[in-house]
Amino acid sequence: MLLEVEDLSVNYGVIQAVKGVSFKVNEGEIVSLIGANGAGKTTILKTISGLMKPSGGKIVYEGHEIQKQKSQKIVAGGISQVPEGRRIFAGLTVLENLQMGAFLRKDRDGLKKDYQEVFERFPVLRERKNQDAATLSGGEQQMLAMGRALTAKPKLLLMDEPSMGLAPIFINEIFDIIQAIKQQGTTVLLIEQNASKALAIADRGYVLATGNILMTGTGQELLANEDVQKAYLGG
Ligand code: ATP
Repeated sequence: MLLEVEDLSVNYGVIQAVKGVSFKVNEGEIVSLIGANGAGKTTILKTISGLMKPSGGKIVYEGHEIQKQKSQKIVAGGISQVPEGRRIFAGLTVLENLQMGAFLRKDRDGLKKDYQEVFERFPVLRERKNQDAATLSGGEQQMLAMGRALTAKPKLLLMDEPSMGLAPIFINEIFDIIQAIKQQGTTVLLIEQNASKALAIADRGYVLATGNILMTGTGQELLANEDVQKAYLGG
């Protein structure tokens, strides 16, 4: 097992956003957390990556508790996040944005090779590498955010709503890319409001509502579940 979240609670002041949530991610899996707006998905990802501290529970990564670690140490340990809204740096070029993802790495030759890998995976980023990142389309910005997270060579990639705000043609492409990232050995924890796509590519999924896990199963089991269909798949 790569990641185990045990009885995690997270508060914003008096608001309890996450209420005793437990789930696990095995090495090599894509695990999708689905749930409506405000269910607590983003808060869980931010807590795993160390941007928020839990009020209770544990986050165990590769056998070690990390819930008290600083985010920089967590990144160095192999967890990278592709944030909601992509958070690319406007005013910096595409290449400079990629370099921000690798700020903890010292191996210059390895880095050059990794930029080449990112450019092979996302050729459009190579074409635009000297262009201001703000001029990219939404789908291209999502690719840049993914490429930036991948240059940190993560074992576990946390993805927050990668399909948000994208045109349908880009949405399919993004989900294909997530599967390719898994094929190359990176484990993925994905949160999405696009439940049908997120479950279709998931090995396993968890349904979250108002800070609690309601249901879990394989991606296919959840897709076939009537309650999931009614609540999240518009069926
Ligand atoms: P979304 O899809 O909108 O990102 P989510 O499932 O990721 O939803 P969270 O963003 O984790 O949900 O929010 C969980 C709960 O915490 C919600 O009730 C939300 O209103 C509350 N919350 C989130 N951020 C804050 C904040 N900065 N201050 C106070 N409450 C917050």
